Amino acid sequence: MKIVNSPIEMQQLADGARRNGERIAFVPTMGYLHEGHLSLMHEGRRRGTMLVASIFVNPTQFGPNEDLSRYPRDLARDCELMRTVPVDLLFNPEPADMYPAAAQTWVEVTGLTRGLCGPLRPGHFRGVATVVAKLFNIVKPHLALFGEKDYQQLRTIQQMVRDLNMDIEIVPMPTVREPDGLAMSSRNAYLSAADRKTALSLSRALAASRTALGAGARTATEIARAARTVLENEPGVEIEYVEAVDAESLEPVGAQERPVVVAIAARVGKVRLIDNMVLTPGPATIAGQPVC
Ligand code: AMP
Repeated sequence: MKIVNSPIEMQQLADGARRNGERIAFVPTMGYLHEGHLSLMHEGRRRGTMLVASIFVNPTQFGPNEDLSRYPRDLARDCELMRTVPVDLLFNPEPADMYPAAAQTWVEVTGLTRGLCGPLRPGHFRGVATVVAKLFNIVKPHLALFGEKDYQQLRTIQQMVRDLNMDIEIVPMPTVREPDGLAMSSRNAYLSAADRKTALSLSRALAASRTALGAGARTATEIARAARTVLENEPGVEIEYVEAVDAESLEPVGAQERPVVVAIAARVGKVRLIDNMVLTPGPATIAGQPVC
C-alpha cells in the first residue's frame, strides 16, 4: 500500500491512474478503523480497479467544545488493517496542507443540515461537505462509499454531488454492528464497560420503533415515541434527539406513507453516539436491518 501525504502528488497519481483506464473507488475516513470502515473498503475493492482510502481527522467539522484533540488515532494499526483488504493507496494529508491559511471557500448544503445534528453541531456539516469536496478534487474518484451509520452526512454528500454536478457515484453502505446490536464507531473505544451496556439501548430503541410500525403505528410521532420510551427508561442515557423524519428530505412527516429514518443522538457517559434505521410502511417491506 502506497502512502501519500501531499495533495498535489495525490492529484498527479490520480491523473495517471485515470489515463491508464483505472476506475478509482474512494473511502474517506478519520481513521481508527473498524469493521464498518472495512466493509466500505471491501465493497470499493469489488467495484473499482484502484482502491484509495483517506485518513484525515478534519478540524473544520469539529466544534470548539468537541473531541478533535482527543479523537482516537492509530495509524500503524490502521495501515495493517488496510493491507488486509487490500487498499492500494492511502491518502493521509496534514491539516496545514488541506487548509492553507489563505483559503476562503466553504461548501454548504442548506436544507438537509437544518435539523437533527445540524443545530447541535453548528458548522459541522459545512466542514464535512467542504472537506469531502476537496478530497474528491484531490483523489478524483469515479465512485465513493459512505456509511448509512452517518445518515445525515450521507444525504448531505449525495445532495452536494447532485447540486454541484460532481461526476462521482455515491455508494451508500449499511451500518455494521457488533453482534449485540451496537453500531460500530471509532468513539465506542471511549465507552466504559458499564456505558458500553447502556449504549445498547440505542439499537434497542430503533428495534422498538420497527416493532411499533409492525404493530400498526403510522405517524412519525408514534414511531419516534417507541424509541424515545426505551431511551428514557435507560438510566445513563442523555437524549439529544429522537426523531422520525422523511428518509430523503429529512423533513418532519405526519402520516407515514414514504420511508422514514428514525434517528437518535444521545450521550452515554462522555461519549456522543448516533444511530438510525430506515423504516418503510407496510409490514412486509420494512427496510431496517435487524439490530438485536
Ligand atoms: P469516520 O471515520 O467516522 O468519518 O467514518 C468514515 C466512513 O465510515 C463514513 O462514511 C461512515 O459513515 C462510515 N462508517 C462509520 N461507522 C460505520 C459503521 N458502523 N458501518 C458502516 N459504515 C460506517
